[in-house]
Amino acid sequence: MGESFDIRKWFDNRDNLLVISGPCSVESREQLLATAAGLSEIDRVKVLRGGIWKPRTRPDAFEGIGEVGLKWMQEAKQRYGFLTMTEVANPEHVELAMRYGIDILWLGARTVANPFSVQELADCLRGCDIPVFVKNPIAPDLKLWVGAFERLDGAGLKYLGGIHRGFASVDESPYRNEPLWEIPIELLRLRPDIPVITDISHICGCRELLQEVAQKALDMGTIGFMIETHNDPDNALTDAKQQITPESLKKAFKNLTFRKKKVDGDAIVLHNLRKEIDDIDDELLNLLAKRMSVSEKIGDFKKQNKVAVLQMGRWKQILEHHINKGVGLGLDGESVKEIFEIIHKDSIDRQL
Ligand code: PEP
Ligand code: MN
Repeated sequence: MGESFDIRKWFDNRDNLLVISGPCSVESREQLLATAAGLSEIDRVKVLRGGIWKPRTRPDAFEGIGEVGLKWMQEAKQRYGFLTMTEVANPEHVELAMRYGIDILWLGARTVANPFSVQELADCLRGCDIPVFVKNPIAPDLKLWVGAFERLDGAGLKYLGGIHRGFASVDESPYRNEPLWEIPIELLRLRPDIPVITDISHICGCRELLQEVAQKALDMGTIGFMIETHNDPDNALTDAKQQITPESLKKAFKNLTFRKKKVDGDAIVLHNLRKEIDDIDDELLNLLAKRMSVSEKIGDFKKQNKVAVLQMGRWKQILEHHINKGVGLGLDGESVKEIFEIIHKDSIDRQL
């Protein structure tokens, strides 16, 4: 299986779904080898992940097995032919991971939040051709994520990938980390050279949501997954709630619907629908421009008559009306609200 898998070729072609799986933390030789044995039954899994050094919130928690775990990773690689992957947070981790033949590295969400650490890692990786994946930082800060890639670019690294693992949020949510799909999409727009995969385990935080989020990620066009697996998830030392057995992963794959990247058959149907959308967008833009010119006339009137620009009562009234009308038309109330808030803000700016 994995033996013939060439990760650098994957970076160049991105043709097959890249599946990275393994325990959140490497805990013991038995645990790692049992998990790897289960994963070796799933053709799609080409890379074995295992956390050796764990960034924990509290100091009394399990902080990783350390160097000895790298030996077990090596053993699992020899036995089952996986490529191996681990998280590095400082130059010492990099040195040890390389010494034990780890094939791929990743930078964790907490590390990416700290430019000093990222720069230190970039400096020590200078001149290496090892593939490095960069998780999104904990906070929804796209610039920080992009900045990490730029630091690694600057060190000459050629095989860089992104891992979308969701973002911490203060709002109540079913997810451990809010997916905020628009952020990885924007990263792809800014850096089309960087392949981005989805870490559904850290987005979900629990087993129950994994299937649904995996499907959503595929529907959004993801080209790979990172999924945490453990031979005995309930007793895992870290992230017990979100880990699944390799057997469950095998089943989960069977229940996914894979979409084609491009249409081959009825392309004309899609073409016509897209044309319809383009025409509607055109109309929307014309209407928006028309609305703004009326808004400017109102602004002139207010100036001449010394009337305040922001009329809170009217704004509240029209917003409520638009939301109700939108919902009646089958639109999402929250989205209607956001759209009109943007339009209103632009209107006000023009009147000032
Ligand atoms: C992990 O992959 O186990 C991990 C610690 O992830 P993150 O950096 O995304 O929290
Ligand atoms: Mn984890």
